[in-house]
Amino acid sequence: MRIVNRDRIVTCDNCGKMIEFDQFDIINRGNKNYITCLNCKHKFEVLYDQTHVYPDDFCSFKTGVNIDNKTINEWIKDGLNILKRNSDDTYHLNASGDTVVTCYSMDDCYMVHVSKGYSELILDKDIGDYNDFE
Ligand SMILES: [Zn+2]
Repeated sequence: MRIVNRDRIVTCDNCGKMIEFDQFDIINRGNKNYITCLNCKHKFEVLYDQTHVYPDDFCSFKTGVNIDNKTINEWIKDGLNILKRNSDDTYHLNASGDTVVTCYSMDDCYMVHVSKGYSELILDKDIGDYNDFE
């Protein structure tokens, strides 16, 4: 059994190869987590640190390609029009480069968030209860 740190690098029990992985490489069985060595296909248990912390575990888009204001305004217009046409939708998101535009449909208004240089964390729904942000 290997204890996995934030670097998400372990050494295979079988062939000794260093394996770098992310949360999507982890197979969850009951209370145990496993990863499979890409070199020798050996499957072994890891103690996976399921805690998360900002900013260490987030992917930053601060240095992403600059999205100009004309494009951002088009995304806002598109998002609001899509929400207007689809009244069951509660939000519309458009992200590329260094920018994410999210339009929300509230009870009595629309709200628009424009974030440049944002950070993102994508979490597997099957792992953890997500009360574990440090
Ligand atoms: Zn191996």
